[in-house]
Amino acid sequence: MKIETLPVGYGEAHLVTVENAKKTWHILVDAGPAEASPDLADHLRARGIQELHTVWISHAHPNHVDGLSTLPDHFPIQHIRIPRFSSENSYVQALQTRIRQKGWQNALHQDLAPKQVRIGTTDWTILHPRTPGTDLHTDGLVVLLTHKKVGVLFSGDLAPASHAAVREVCEKILQAQGATLAAVTWPHHGDHLAPEWLRWFNTIPRVLLSVGVNPYGLPLALPEAAAWNVLRTDTQGTLRLISDGNTLQRVDR
Ligand SMILES: [Zn+2]
Repeated sequence: MKIETLPVGYGEAHLVTVENAKKTWHILVDAGPAEASPDLADHLRARGIQELHTVWISHAHPNHVDGLSTLPDHFPIQHIRIPRFSSENSYVQALQTRIRQKGWQNALHQDLAPKQVRIGTTDWTILHPRTPGTDLHTDGLVVLLTHKKVGVLFSGDLAPASHAAVREVCEKILQAQGATLAAVTWPHHGDHLAPEWLRWFNTIPRVLLSVGVNPYGLPLALPEAAAWNVLRTDTQGTLRLISDGNTLQRVDR
C-alpha cells in the first residue's frame, strides 16, 4: 500500500494505491484546490491512472474539494464519500449544486460514523462525524486507513473541539484491529491542536503536513513540532510512504 501526499498548494490531496496479486485500486483522500498547478488530473495522469475507486472528501471547503470538479471528465470514479451535511452553509450548498449538475448522485455515499469499508487489502473506518453537522471543521469527515498493522489517520481540517473524541474512537479501532498509528495528517494545514492531540503526536512516527502559501500563517510554529517527524509538501514536494502491512517507510519514488 502506497500513500502519496501531493503538493497541491494550500489544500490537501492524498493518493493511496492498494494492490493485490490481481488488481490495483486508486483512492483519493481530498481533492485539493482548483488552482493547484500542476492540477490533480495531471498528477494522476503522470502515474498512468485510468480510474479512481473511491474519493473521500473531508468537507466542502474549496481547497479540499474543488480539484474534484474536472476529474470525472478524465477518470471514472466509482465511489465519492462525503459526510452528510446541513445545507445552511454556502460551501455546502455549492457542493450540493455541483453534485446535482455533475450527475454524481449514483456514486455518492454519505455515511456517518461508525462505518467500515474494505478496499483490497485495506480497511477504511469513518471515525467522525456521527451526526450531520453545521460547522465544516468541527463536523468534518475523519477516516482511519489500516493496512494490516499499519494505521494512517486522515483528519482533514478537524477543529480542536473534536480532537479528544476522535482520538478516543481512533485508539479503540486500532486496538480492535491490532494496528498502531504510523502517520497522521496534521489537521487544517498546521493549525492549533487540542492538548490531547499535542501529546498524541509525540507518539506517532510521522506527521504529514499538506500546506502551501496562505493568508493564515499556517502552519503555526508550535514548539512541540520540533519533536515530531513532520513531512511537509511545501518544502519537500510529494511525500511518499509505503506499507508492507507491518511498517510504514518513506521512499523517494
Ligand atoms: Zn476547511
